[in-house]
Amino acid sequence: MTHPAQPKASHFINGEYVEDTVGTPIPVIYAATGEQIATVHAATPAIVEQALSTAKAAQKAWAKMSGTERGRILRRAADIMRERNHDLSVLETYDTGKPLQETLVADATSGADALEYFGGLAASLTGEHIPLGEDWVYTKREALGLCVGIGAWNYPTQIACWKGAPALACGNAMVFKPSETTPLCALKVAEILIEAGAPAGVFNVVQGMGEVGGALVTDPRVDKVSLTGSVPTGKKVYAAAAEGMKHVTMELGGKSPLIIFDDADLDNAVGGAINGNFYSSGQVCSNGTRVFVQKGIKEKFLARLAERTGNAILGDPMDEATSFGPMVTENQMNIVLGYIEKGKEEGARLICGGKRADMDGYFIEPTVFADVTDDMTIAREEIFGPVMSVLDFDTEEEVVARANDTEFGLSAGVFTKDFTRAHRVIGNLEAGSCFINSYNDAPVEAPFGGVKASGVGRENSKEAIKHFSQVKSVYVRMGDVEAAF
Ligand code: NDP
Repeated sequence: MTHPAQPKASHFINGEYVEDTVGTPIPVIYAATGEQIATVHAATPAIVEQALSTAKAAQKAWAKMSGTERGRILRRAADIMRERNHDLSVLETYDTGKPLQETLVADATSGADALEYFGGLAASLTGEHIPLGEDWVYTKREALGLCVGIGAWNYPTQIACWKGAPALACGNAMVFKPSETTPLCALKVAEILIEAGAPAGVFNVVQGMGEVGGALVTDPRVDKVSLTGSVPTGKKVYAAAAEGMKHVTMELGGKSPLIIFDDADLDNAVGGAINGNFYSSGQVCSNGTRVFVQKGIKEKFLARLAERTGNAILGDPMDEATSFGPMVTENQMNIVLGYIEKGKEEGARLICGGKRADMDGYFIEPTVFADVTDDMTIAREEIFGPVMSVLDFDTEEEVVARANDTEFGLSAGVFTKDFTRAHRVIGNLEAGSCFINSYNDAPVEAPFGGVKASGVGRENSKEAIKHFSQVKSVYVRMGDVEAAF
């Protein structure tokens, strides 16, 4: 019998599901059991061509619609997503293995927020009138044209919406390639947009590995590439986009600092560290995986952290009581287990976890290392799993310098009751998305993105509009033209 997660076909192009079984089969594995629940096929060159030419053709008419009309469609799509939140959350859980307890509140809901927010902004995308005596200039905010979105595997619904919603609000068309690991959810986003009234071809989904992403990025018809992925992939995609002078948004990895001062509220700081390391089993780009704890509260912090981490419920992700799911794939589990071994070998003190959980699926126990030093591998490289490194510090000046000593710059957080210090420290940290007495909140109203190797551009908020549109300026002369000859 076909599994309920099996999509109708692999791709969604020009308003409908499209299959081409010539493409390499991609098995979809449910991370909680290791069972294959669906198969899709990678896009062949013919499918890529179909998607790009369809999107290119659909974009012009879409851009000519008023912002109000485009916005209404996006907001209708948001309503449909919210109505179907339960089914979409179950699919997200099948796609990623994340527990339903999380997916019910963080995936389709977050996608709907983006559709609603950018739907609301669409009608307000206007230009300026610039008086120059008798003459004047007016500006228009125009679509970029054909955009490509490429997603990572941790938030397949959210990533499709965070890219698709602002792109479409501005009058662009998009071809979106999900990660081969989580190909299911973006298809639902495409289906819902059509149901909400989006013209066929403005949002298309094609499956495939990096090769398909590469074909999309290098196509001369593409005007913009928005990637969520790792830094090495980001460098490749950025370089390929530069060849064609394309616009880019790069949402890449991180190794973000979370700084906890002696005067912090202990339970809130522990809660922040848990949210910043163990949500989605640690598979979150903005995680605060270097937790710097001031020496005065270090042991109290570790004791409380170990106690609360012991309350994590590992189990069937479809059971809403489960609060901690598996790694997305066996491969990712093995990568993370390799980092845990490195932590042990390099002399970090294991506080809790530290191994694969004794159950089916790709579960790793939430793991905390203390006495981590700046040079250890687990303190330098992005792990993308449930491994928290706790480092000690004495002074503010010292911790800021150490926190900034990384190629990454996605996020940063600080816990303290001293607000002057909180703002000063955040002001000195090299990071794009920051938190004071909190961690990992990502409301659509707030810009999201990194500095340094963690990326360029911003998603969400009004900032995203700037990255999916461009300004045309028009000089209007009211009198005669003077010329030298
Ligand atoms: P990858 O960088 O491996 O892949 C990202 C996407 O790019 C995938 O769809 C992948 O396809 C595709 N891709 C790979 N090579 C190319 C290429 N040469 N040209 C075009 N596309 C290509 O990341 P993961 O999927 O492993 O995701 C984890 C990473 O994503 C982490 O580093 C994490 O920090 C980052 N991330 C960043 C976020 C942010 O907003 N800053 C949010 C979430 C994750 P395929 O995998 O199918 O081969």
